[in-house]
Amino acid sequence: MGLGLQPRLARAIFPLSCAAARTLAPRQLAVLTYHRIGTPAELGPAASVLAECTTETFAEQMRWLREHADPVDVATAVAILDRRQPPPRRPVLVTFDDGYRDDLARMRPVCERFGIRPVIYLPTGFVGTRRRFWWDRVAMCIKLTARSSFRAPLEPEQLLPLGSPAEREAATELLLPHVEHLAPGAQEELIAVLEERLGLGCTALADEPVVVGWEEARAALAWCDFGAHTITHPRLSTLAPEALRREIAESKAEIERELGAPCETFAVPYGGAIDYTEEAVRVADEVGLRVVFSLEDSLRTPRASGRCWQVDRLTLNEVQDAPGLAAKLTWPKVFVPKWTQILRARLEPALRALRPSAEGAA
Ligand SMILES: [Zn+2]
Repeated sequence: MGLGLQPRLARAIFPLSCAAARTLAPRQLAVLTYHRIGTPAELGPAASVLAECTTETFAEQMRWLREHADPVDVATAVAILDRRQPPPRRPVLVTFDDGYRDDLARMRPVCERFGIRPVIYLPTGFVGTRRRFWWDRVAMCIKLTARSSFRAPLEPEQLLPLGSPAEREAATELLLPHVEHLAPGAQEELIAVLEERLGLGCTALADEPVVVGWEEARAALAWCDFGAHTITHPRLSTLAPEALRREIAESKAEIERELGAPCETFAVPYGGAIDYTEEAVRVADEVGLRVVFSLEDSLRTPRASGRCWQVDRLTLNEVQDAPGLAAKLTWPKVFVPKWTQILRARLEPALRALRPSAEGAA
């Protein structure tokens, strides 16, 4: 696969991005979101489509942040939002969602090397258990099955080929968004159908804990912080008021109880505009959270709700390297807004038609 227009542009202007990063970039706090880092081999049978980059690329990105921006920890980020502390030239906070245990092991040496203190968002109901996330169960079934095709339980059902790794990845990418938008009960039923059709037994429990345990989390406080990411990782916008309050309040309280450290920030599961409500932000404010982080891929000005800030984070799935990160942070008007995706979608086929053999290896 060749590089898209935007990554190529980001590479072409990399020296310019480096030179301009501290002077031209907006002074507003930028928040980066990672879920997983590592190669497909390192991630094992889990949903590697969720990984933003390899550990090496993550290290290049963190090196760039250290050299060309001003990485801050979560307490400093809150102080900057409250205007209790003047922001440095280019404040950037690094966040990780879901708390995968093996990711902590990969990110730690990189974060320590570049003096970056990330904040990791934990769904507390998974902490120290062997429970797998639903997206990993779906990915596992497709990756590990011996079948070369299967009837996918979509609407309408589709016969999907599973002959090659690329076909398996395509099937995973087709199924994940479908399963994501089902209610929890229907989700569980569909995964049971998948497991049966793909000839795998129940994939609900892993051999080892998937998410970091409390003991490990306490030890990790030496180099990172933790925030709340609900108990069961539900879509907040679908919850009844009591369940909404429990997911937010109890995840915060449990982190504080177990880690003996304040938990002032919360990351919305799934994180899009449709995935949470004003009510969720109000509850967060009531239980003493100071920031609710969305995942809307924007640098919109933070909005206050009582004493709680609603802050958008940047996604990094489309960012392939340090130049991509540099471009996104330095030229947000060009590299962040959704219109660039529309433009890119229109320009890329034309560009490919013009230069049929110009695509280098990624
Ligand atoms: Zn999550």
